[in-house]
Amino acid sequence: MATMRLDKLYDLKGRIALVTGGGTGIGWMIARGLAVNGAKVYITGRRMDVLEKAAQSFAQEGTVIPLEMDVTNKDSILSVQSEIERKDGKLHILVNNAGISGPVSRFFNDTSAPEHKDAGTLGRALFDDQSFEDWSELYSTNTFSIFFVTTAFVGLLTKGSQEIPNYTSSVINITSISAIMKLAQNHFAYNSAKAAASHLTRLLSTEFALKKVPVRVNAIAPGVYATEMTADRIAAHGIDQVGLGLQPVPAQRAGSDEEMAGTAIYLASPAGCYTNGQEIVIDGGYLAVN
Ligand code: NDP
Repeated sequence: MATMRLDKLYDLKGRIALVTGGGTGIGWMIARGLAVNGAKVYITGRRMDVLEKAAQSFAQEGTVIPLEMDVTNKDSILSVQSEIERKDGKLHILVNNAGISGPVSRFFNDTSAPEHKDAGTLGRALFDDQSFEDWSELYSTNTFSIFFVTTAFVGLLTKGSQEIPNYTSSVINITSISAIMKLAQNHFAYNSAKAAASHLTRLLSTEFALKKVPVRVNAIAPGVYATEMTADRIAAHGIDQVGLGLQPVPAQRAGSDEEMAGTAIYLASPAGCYTNGQEIVIDGGYLAVN
């Protein structure tokens, strides 16, 4: 019987990682977790000053390199792909984390809004008050980007798998519990874009497996985490802001940096190499009771 190797289960030494939206919030939690465990981590986003500040603050603890990349812009994605190909020639871990939530619908938050009174005749106001442009931006950032960034990097991820025995490169898509459950006061564009991202995870993992592309694709569906995206809503409503008349979060708190990083490290590391096409929910039990 082969000897079990337990000492390197979560070891990411020699791995190259890219975390989109990696300079803030959940992306930064994951980038730090991967870097501390030995990976060289590229963090990308549109604000270079934010990325540089984050990377500098972590210089003593791990290798984090900032690069500008807009996930809704093809040329920007391809330019970063070329740079990593030139510098490293491979990639092992891709975290598709960049996302936006857009404004919460006025209709649900403000019962005195005219949409409430006139909902029957206003039609779309019954559902939300986001424009065509809002919907396009939400889908481009949260969903289309996963397809375009993953397909741009799949060649480098394949090279990453080929050079390390018993390891398969890992794509991790950050979806949301809103991809799975109905959240009454959340908006339709964000929730449906996340549901599409969740299904895209399964489609990509199936397609790669059938075509013998050695790249795994999984998702993490977070519950509530205190970040730039949620700061205003948490301040206004507490951590139960995502629900309307639903059960509160059983853990009675937001998720921690360590809990987010730990799940991503598992999916990226040798320990997670038999996990493919899955969505791991980390929400303090919120989905279980709602
Ligand atoms: P943040 O607002 O802190 O992070 C979003 C990141 O995405 C930023 O770093 C931003 O950088 C980047 N980003 C946004 N648009 C683009 C773009 N067009 N191109 C490149 N980067 C972009 O929020 P979170 O950390 O909370 O969100 C991270 C992910 O987690 C998102 O996908 C979100 O939907 C998901 N999520 C978050 C939850 C939470 O409770 N916080 C719950 C469930 C899911 P920049 O603006 O510089 O480009």
